[in-house]
Formats: sequence, C-alpha cells, structure tokens
Amino acid sequence: MTTESAAAAARATVYGYPRQGGDRELKKAVEGYWKGRVTAAALRETAEELRRANWQRLAEDGIHEVPTGDFSYYDHVLDTSVMVGAVPVRHREAVAADALDGYFAMARGTQDVAPLEMTKWFDTNYHYLVPELGPDTVFAADSTKQVREFGEALALGHDARPVLVGPVTYLLLAKPAPGVAADFEPLTLLDRLLPVYAEVLADLRAAGAQWVQLDEPALVQDRSPAELNAVARAYRDLGALADRPRLLVASYFDRLGDALAVLAKSPVEGLAMDFTGPAAANLRDLAGVGGLPGRRLVAGVVDGRNVWINDLQQSLATLGTLLGLAGRVDVAASCSLLHVPLDLAAERDIDPQVGRWLAFARQKSAEIATLARGLARGTASIAAELAANRADLASRTGSAITHDPAVRARASAVTEADARRELPYPRRAVAQRARLRLPLLPTTTIGSFPQTSQLRGARADLTAGHIDAAAYDKRIETEIQEVIAFQEAAGIDVLVHGEPERNDMVQYFAERLTGCLATRHGWVQSYGTRYVRPPILAGDISRPEPMTVRWTAYAQSLTGRPVKGMLTGPVTMLAWSFVRDDQSLGETARQIALALRDEVNDLESSGSSVIQVDEPALRETLPLRAADRAGYLAWATEAFRLATGGVRPDTQIHTHMCYAEFGDIVRAIDDLDADVISLEAARSHMRVADELAAAGYPREAGPGVYDIHSPRVPSGEEVAALLRKGLEAIPAERLWVNPDCGLKTRGWPEVRASLEHLVSAAAEVRATL
Ligand code: GLN
Ligand code: ZN
Repeated sequence: MTTESAAAAARATVYGYPRQGGDRELKKAVEGYWKGRVTAAALRETAEELRRANWQRLAEDGIHEVPTGDFSYYDHVLDTSVMVGAVPVRHREAVAADALDGYFAMARGTQDVAPLEMTKWFDTNYHYLVPELGPDTVFAADSTKQVREFGEALALGHDARPVLVGPVTYLLLAKPAPGVAADFEPLTLLDRLLPVYAEVLADLRAAGAQWVQLDEPALVQDRSPAELNAVARAYRDLGALADRPRLLVASYFDRLGDALAVLAKSPVEGLAMDFTGPAAANLRDLAGVGGLPGRRLVAGVVDGRNVWINDLQQSLATLGTLLGLAGRVDVAASCSLLHVPLDLAAERDIDPQVGRWLAFARQKSAEIATLARGLARGTASIAAELAANRADLASRTGSAITHDPAVRARASAVTEADARRELPYPRRAVAQRARLRLPLLPTTTIGSFPQTSQLRGARADLTAGHIDAAAYDKRIETEIQEVIAFQEAAGIDVLVHGEPERNDMVQYFAERLTGCLATRHGWVQSYGTRYVRPPILAGDISRPEPMTVRWTAYAQSLTGRPVKGMLTGPVTMLAWSFVRDDQSLGETARQIALALRDEVNDLESSGSSVIQVDEPALRETLPLRAADRAGYLAWATEAFRLATGGVRPDTQIHTHMCYAEFGDIVRAIDDLDADVISLEAARSHMRVADELAAAGYPREAGPGVYDIHSPRVPSGEEVAALLRKGLEAIPAERLWVNPDCGLKTRGWPEVRASLEHLVSAAAEVRATL
C-alpha cells in the first residue's frame, strides 16, 4: 500500500469501554443478583442491553470497529481465567454447580472459600483478580463468552473485533496457587496455554471474526530475555495456525522497548501501540526497527486514561509520521476507555471554562473519529474541529485557573532547606521523647474510625439541604467526642479524631483546595461493583483556608493525650485523582505539598504535637519501567518533605502506607524523613518488619498487628505473638503498636474488641521487656 492508500483506509477504533452504563445499571443489577433481588436471567438481560447501548454509543460517536469481549460482570482477567479453564481447586464445586455463582465465588469468596487475590492492573486504579496457577494446572478452552458477545455485535450490524488478554500477559499476571512453591513461574505453562488460545481463536474465526486483539500490556514492563523469548514463541506459534483470524497485538501504558523488535519480527498482522506520555518513545523505536511494512498499526494517540481533550493537531502530526511506517494506520485511544468516566455531558456543575478542556469516553471516541477522518480525507475535512480544538487548548493555556502567579512564584522559590527539617532524625527523636513522654510500644490507630450509616446519612442530609451546616457540624462533634472517649477508656496512647467529616481521604481535600474539582457522575471502576469518582486536578493548587484544623483542635480540646493531626499526602492526592497533563507530575506534587505544608504548620500552631501524612500510594505509583523510578522517587519524597519540613523538631511526623511489599522502596521511605511509619503487615505475618530491618531502616515503625480487612476480631494472644515477632526485627524503643490501616470500613463492635485486645497485648509484651 502507498502512504495515500494507507491514509485513506484509516479507521477509528477503541479497545474497551466503561462497563457500568450511564446510571451504573451494572452495579445495581450485579449487587441485586447477589442479594437475591435480581434473577440470573434479568442480570443477563441487563448486561446484553448495556453492551448493545455501548456499541450504539460508539457507532454514533464515529467509531468504525467496536471491541467485544471487554464487557465483564466483574473483571476481564477473571473472565480470561474462565476462558482458559483456570479455576482454582477450591472453587471447582461452586463453578460446576452454577457457572455464574461460581464466577462470583471466585471474585468475592463465600462463607467457606477465599476469593482470588486482587491487585492493581499495572499503574492504574483498576484491580484485577490474580490467576492462581501451578505445575498441575490443566487448561481447557471455553470460548462461550467471547463468541456470544462477538455474535451479538455482529447481529447488530457492527464491525467488531474481539479483545482478549494475551497469553503472555495472562501468565505474567498470575501467581503460584496456594500450596505451590513460591518460586513456581507461571510462564513455564506457556506451551500448555497456547493450544487453548488456538482453540478460542478458531472458534472466533468460525463465528466470523476477521481480527482478534490480544492485549499484552505486560510487555511495557522490563522483561528478561527468557520472557522475551516466550513472547517470540507465543506469537510464532499462534501466527503459524492454519485457520485463524488476523492478530492484532496491543500494548499500552508505556513504551514497548525490547519487546517491540520481538513483536515486529513475529508473524502477527498488526500491532496496537500507545503513543501518549512516556509511550511517545514508541514512535522513535518503531522507526528504529524499520516500522511494520505491509502491516496494520493501530495508533493510540488519544490518552485513554486521563480526562483531557486531545491536541488534535499534534496527534495528526504523529499519525502522519506513522503513515510512513506501516501498511495501514488506524486511530485509537492509548488503552481501554474503562479508565475514564462515560460522558462529560452528564456533568452539569463543572465550571464551563474547565469543561472545555475535558473529554470522557464519549468525547474521546469523537476525537478518535475526527482524527481518523482527518487522516483519511485530509485536514481540510476537519477544519472546523481543528479550529475549535485550538481555541479550547488556548483557553486552557491562558487561563487564570491553570496559571496562578502566586502559586507559581511560591513553587519556584522553594529551596532545598524548605524540604529539610531543622534537626536530623536522631536529635528530633530525643526532643520528641521529652515532649510526648510515651511508654515503650506506644499504641495508636491509623486515623479513621467506623463511618457509620448515621454519619453517611448526616452527610446526605446536608447535601440535600435537610439539615444545615451547624447541625451537621454538631453531629461531627458528637462523633468526635465518642471516638475520643472510647480511645481514652481503651487506654490508647496517641489518639485520633476519627475522620468522621471525610467522605474520602482524597476527595475531602480536593473539595477544599483551589484548582481541584469534583464530578457528579464521573464514576470509574475500581474493582467489581466498586466505582470511584476521582477528583480532577485542573489548575494551580492552593489552600484558601485551613482544612482540618478545626476538627483536630476540637478533638485535642477534649483530652490530655496527644491527638494526631491527619492529612493525605501529595503523592496519594495525585495517584487517586485525574492529574493535569500540561505540566509535570512533580510540579503538581510540589503545589499540593506547599498547600499541605500550610496545613501541617497550622495544625502545629493549634497545639498538635503529632501529625500524620498518609502516603499509601507511594509504592503503587512507581513507574512501570525501572529506569524511570529514581526520577519519580526524587520528586515524590521531596514533596512529602516539603509538606512536613516546616515543623519544630519536637513535633512528631508520622506517615502511613498500606501495601504488602515495601522491600524495594525502603530507601525512599527513609528519604521521606518522617519520624514514625505505620505499615500494613498483619496478613504477611510482619514480613515488612523484617524488610525494614534488613534494609537498616533507622526510625520508629508500627507494622500493623490487626488485619482490618476482615471483620474477624484478633485475640490478645494473636496480637501479642505478632508484636513479639515485630520485636525480633525492630527494637522496643522504636516499635509502635497499631492496626494495618484505617477503621472506616469496619463496624464498632469488632473495632472496640480488637483495639482492646491490641492495648492489652501491648501491655503484656511491654511488661516482659
Ligand atoms: N488515615 C486514613 C484512614 O485511616 C488512611 C487510609 C489509607 O491508608 N488508605 O482512613
Ligand atoms: Zn492504609
């Protein structure tokens, strides 16, 4: 094909779409089914209707080739486990009895069996269910779901392309099943898995599929030569199949790196690649391997995981370059649109100035369609769209919202000294001991206490105007009184106010910072039927007034014991929001850090002697490529130090993280220069305490001794045993006693009992020192 014919054939496509429906119909139907209020037939009908509506939306918005099989009742990786027959032994009975109930049992567990483990899908906030495999795993193809959904789209007249998780990524995402040696490598099962994929591909071919997309996002991470070999083998074998659809191997979230040459050499007919953000390097790399002559390239030029409008002119330039590198170029979002909300048009309260800069799934589809048209018929054919896009982009660059001179001046005046506390940690620890006079093995909690339905009700009443602010505040004060009274009675050493005023640890702050906005319907799937509405960090960030001081000071006025001030850190604010794409993450982090610094200092002036700044997301935001990590950690830790660096030496700064593995970032944790850290550890039997000790972590630490993810009340003996385990790694002078994480999702009865056991266990172990 010539460059012109490659352009003329350009089509618009996407890899996946928000599943929930405009009104979160899927959540309601699935949860209704769990509660027995919705029949299986009704659930299936809702799902089919949602798929139909989504394809319809895509077609209306100008998408030529729609994805199928991306829909899921719960998670597409779990769907893949079902497709390849990788059902854990403990779930076989349930699956045999009823496929749908068995599916949900794998996802959520039952009274008797544990669910599959859940973890983050690369560096997004979507969680997938981790496949469990072992040397005895026997795969068996079940293409029912894929074939049915493809057939539905076909019957509705759509040009459709089934999308599957690719075999290499599937295995790389898996972990050894319970009872299997921890060093078992699921990738060794590749030869057993490929025939199953071959069967599914043949079934889809028989159903009429011309192309099938195999998603291999695991290839954008650093891969060993052995793993790259597996990629080569997988696609050589699948490519060699006689009767198969054409194969499109998709990658996203970062650059392909070494895997690109491997895929380019394989016999697949097409590649779908990301050309946004750090993945823009794919452009240069693609030229480096000689392009994909005669083959199909699907170019992800519209950011599929953030909410900003595309720079159409710039994308056209990228597409123009790509035309010279492939036989045919199509236009797509960089990844599935699953990661963005459905439709901006549903938002009524967004400042219209900012609204011009935003694009959700529907708006992104329209951008993709426009770009495909521009590519196929020339820029003149999209002149009006280009002009409007230019004006929208200019309104963003020139806006007072994105450029607040005061915020910029302050951020650029930051010196190294601002991000450093007055005294080094060892001398601060002495000053803090003198001020706080805590016992050995001091007890504390992570911040939140149960968010009761009354509390949520009070918040809903306030929003609906049924109660006024004064009545709501009274309600919060009463709650704080109860939380303080309980902690005093239980004998906890460092108290918290319980966070009753917070709807969410990020949203609460976003609502109070200038430059951030909330959506009403901007739901994004976090896992299963849980959806979140991430705030949008749209402009320069500042703090017009104190955000938490009033509640912390009130709590402190009720007790003689120290009450910990409680804030969410800059990295976590970024990680759980949609962030600006018109400046570096580090710059945004610095702006948030400065706003938090004012809050930290105000807390100190109002009497707080202990202040916690939570950074649970520090580990999860780590870049996918190792080469990018040092740069990230440098600005991330600086932001934390900037937020906390302005307090007196005898004011104790705590931080909290909850993620099972910290071993690889102990240096970075030390770089935060916090005085005390609390970590999740109960489930892993205090492994993090060993990791901290092994890395020579020199500060005070509280590895969690109470697993708050379960309603189970740990006995005093269990807690004491964990504490003794902790003491093997961390000396008594530096060991704190606390739960794994906040208590907001738990009920009062179990929290009461568990914390009483925690305090008595601390006393018991303390007495033996
Ligand atoms: N302070 C927060 C709480 O207790 C921390 C939550 C978290 O780590 N995710 O709820
Ligand atoms: Zn936590």
